[in-house]
Formats: sequence, structure tokens, C-alpha cells
Amino acid sequence: MVRVRFAPSPTGYVHVGSLRTALYCYLFARRHSGVNILRIEDTDRTRYVEGAVENLLRTMEWAGIGFDEGPIEGGACGPYVQSERTELYREHANQLIANGHAYVCFCTPERLDTVRKSQQAAGIPPMYDRHCRNLSKEEVDSRVAAGEPHVVRLRVPIGEMVRFHDMIRDDVEFDSRTIDDQVLLKSDGFPTYHLANIVDDHYMQVTHVIRGEEWLSSTPKHVLLYQAFGWEPPKFAHLPLLLNADRSKLSKRQGDVAVEDYRDKGYLPQALINFVALLGWNPSATEEIFSMDELIRQFDLERVNKAGAVFNREKLDWMNGEYIRKMTPEELLPLVRPLLEKRNFVASDEYVCSVIKLMQERVRTLWDFVDFASYFYITPDFTTADEKYKSKHWTPQAKEHLGALLPKLESLETWNHDSIEAAVREYAEANGMGAGKLIHPIRLAVTGRGMGPGLFELLAVLGKQECVTRIQHALTSLA
Ligand code: GLU
Repeated sequence: MVRVRFAPSPTGYVHVGSLRTALYCYLFARRHSGVNILRIEDTDRTRYVEGAVENLLRTMEWAGIGFDEGPIEGGACGPYVQSERTELYREHANQLIANGHAYVCFCTPERLDTVRKSQQAAGIPPMYDRHCRNLSKEEVDSRVAAGEPHVVRLRVPIGEMVRFHDMIRDDVEFDSRTIDDQVLLKSDGFPTYHLANIVDDHYMQVTHVIRGEEWLSSTPKHVLLYQAFGWEPPKFAHLPLLLNADRSKLSKRQGDVAVEDYRDKGYLPQALINFVALLGWNPSATEEIFSMDELIRQFDLERVNKAGAVFNREKLDWMNGEYIRKMTPEELLPLVRPLLEKRNFVASDEYVCSVIKLMQERVRTLWDFVDFASYFYITPDFTTADEKYKSKHWTPQAKEHLGALLPKLESLETWNHDSIEAAVREYAEANGMGAGKLIHPIRLAVTGRGMGPGLFELLAVLGKQECVTRIQHALTSLA
């Protein structure tokens, strides 16, 4: 039975890289009818952030990633929060001390600092100098009994190659000389990530560890820990790094990395999930739009690349637009409504739906329904009108023609796309001019912009009275 876990350290927001890890775990578990576990890795008390776990749970729910075992779901291997399992880690650290695979270290932070500085000055990679590795049992016992602060370190074997297989990278090996005598238990009695992670993976019967490439260099330490306990290690799959367009590591400095930011900016969970699924995974088909069910059917760890995956924002925008277009205005209404409220835009459901229908072809995010269409809710602000467009189309002749056309529009009995178009074209023809000479100035007068959906449809949605008022207002106030 496949058992995978998503094991985030809650930091207050969910990185898009974590979303991908969570998604791949979920897809792999579902594909193999396995179990998807959520485990909260919160043993680093210095990084504790209030509300971070709740935020994480909310974000996973928004993204549509479900768990079978976890802090909410419960399960036979709980608790699923590491800070509630500290006794287990202490017992296991002691077990390793007893069988010689770990040792107690009394070095003070000051001493470690001095060692590190002298190593740096000598140009050698900073590592613990194993000062306490061979203290006698008597000395250790008496110093511990006297209450001297200490940590527990892994006794890394000297002169060995540590090998493991990775489902994405094949065979990987590390020379044990490059592996530090890792701290397993800190002086506050809390475990480090390494100890807690493998104890839990073992007791939670995890079969596949799927995580980001940044953890690859920790894996030899984990392999040594499995050996020290005499446990069978799980299979490993390290996912490729996420990169900016310039191929540097995806960072907050170059744009958004928090899933919550994408949600707040009007991206749909289905689109973000589809986009993130393709960051490193190559489906066999050439198509790019996949629902969650299709992803479950097709996802395969074997088709995940080693090479870093570029986070292409334009592609995400395109994909989000595609997902928006697949929805009906009625389905979009509850998603757009709260955004309108944020801008204090008031309108009936029916009206908002007709605006959505009109805009749907041209938007990329949910906010575009609000910000590219603000003139449907408030009178346009001419101060932001595109100057070039204005000087080209808002000429004295154009104003004169609009003034003459206005009563004809006002007298229309039916106000819809066809009747408005007929009136405009009739006027243009009678005056020997192209309809564009009217369409552009009307657009400017009514929306304050040079671009937007088809003019006649737009006028029909706005309503006759509103259009007439706006044209009159433009004729008197727009110079
Ligand atoms: N707590 C680690 C993280 O924040 C988990 C890494 C792993 O999956 O082993 O990503």
C-alpha cells in the first residue's frame, strides 16, 4: 500500500513549491489508491507563527488537495503534529546513544562559532570538528547529571560512500567525509528536522518520500539514520527546483511565491493546480489543460524531470483565462461578487452576469472582471483616458457628430445590440463617414478607455439612460 506524506513546516504562507510537493503527493497517492498523510513539522520553535497551521489547512482546501490522515482527519499513526511527539524523538535519540550511533556533545555556541570561523579562514567547508565524539561514558554521564547543556549528534561513519536510489535522479551517492555529525536533538530537548522526519516516516509507514530538491543533501543523513535504527528506508523522489525566468531560484524578490497571493490576485485553484502540476512533470500527451481527475489518471513520478522548472507567469495567466472561459457567468458570479464589494461597486446579479459574459473572452484573472470593467459600475474617470486615443478620436468634428447622433439614440424604442448598431450605421452612412468615426468617440465618452468589449453589446448592457447621460457629460466636460 502506497503511503505518502506532505510534511510542511508552517511558516505563515504556502510557497508555490510546497503546493507542487503537496499536489504530487496527492496525485501519487490517488493514482495508486494509497494514503495521503499531512504531517505538521513544527519542532523549530524559533520559527513558530501564530495561525500558520490554520492558514495551511485553508490553502490546501482551497486548492482541492485532500488528506486521508492528518491533524484534522486523525488516523492510526497520530498525532500528526511533531510538537506533540517530542517524547518519541527523545527516546529514539537515547536509543542511538546506547547503540553507539549518536553521541552527546557539550560544545557551546561560542566554541562552535570559533571553530567555524577558523575553518572559513582556512578555506575549508565549515563542519563540526567532532570534539566531543569520543568522550568517555563516565564523563558524559557526570556532565549531563550536573545539568550541563548539551545536544545529541549523529556519529557519521568515516570513509564510507552513502548511496541511495532516487526515483527521479537514479543512483545518488555522497562521500561521508562531506556529511556533518548532524545535531539530532537540540539543547532544548526538541529534535531537529532530520531525527523527527525519519522517526515519523518510519512509524507512519511512509513508502515514498516526495519532496523538493533542496532536501537532497539531507537524504544521506537520513539514510544513515535508517541504518542506525536498522529500519528499511522509504523510496525517495526529489522534485526539481522552481526557477525564475532568468533561471535563478524562484524567489519572493522577483514576484509572488505565496499561494495565498495568487488566490487574492484572482487566480482560480483549478488553474493554479494545473499550472503547478506541469512544473517538472511532462504529461505524455501534448495537451496542457488537465482537471484534477485527469491529473490523477496521468500523473507519474517517472515522468518528472531532474532539470529545474521555470515558473512562467504568462503561461499561468493564459491558463487562468482558459479556466475562466470554461465557466458560466452564473458560476463566476459568487467569485466576482466579493471583489466588487471590495471596490464598493453595487449592482444586481443579473447585471453583473451580463458584464461577466461580455468580459469573459478577454480576462486573465477574476480581478480583471472588476478593474477592466469598472465603468460598468461607476462613471468613467476621464483623467485616466489614454491621451493618444483621445487626441486621435475626440476631435471637434467627432463631438459635433456625437451631438447630432445623440437624439437618435435617445429616441430608440428598443435598446439592444442590433438596434444601436443600426442607428449608428445609418447615421454614418447618411453623413458619408465610416462607422469607426463614431464608434471610437462613443467608446471614449462612455468608458473613458480606448479598449474593451464590442461597443454595441457594451452599450446594450449599460442601458440607454446611462449611455445618453454619459455621452452628454463627455460632450460638455471632456476637452
Ligand atoms: N518540513 C520539511 C519542509 O518544510 C519537510 C521536508 C520533507 O518532506 O522531508 O519542507
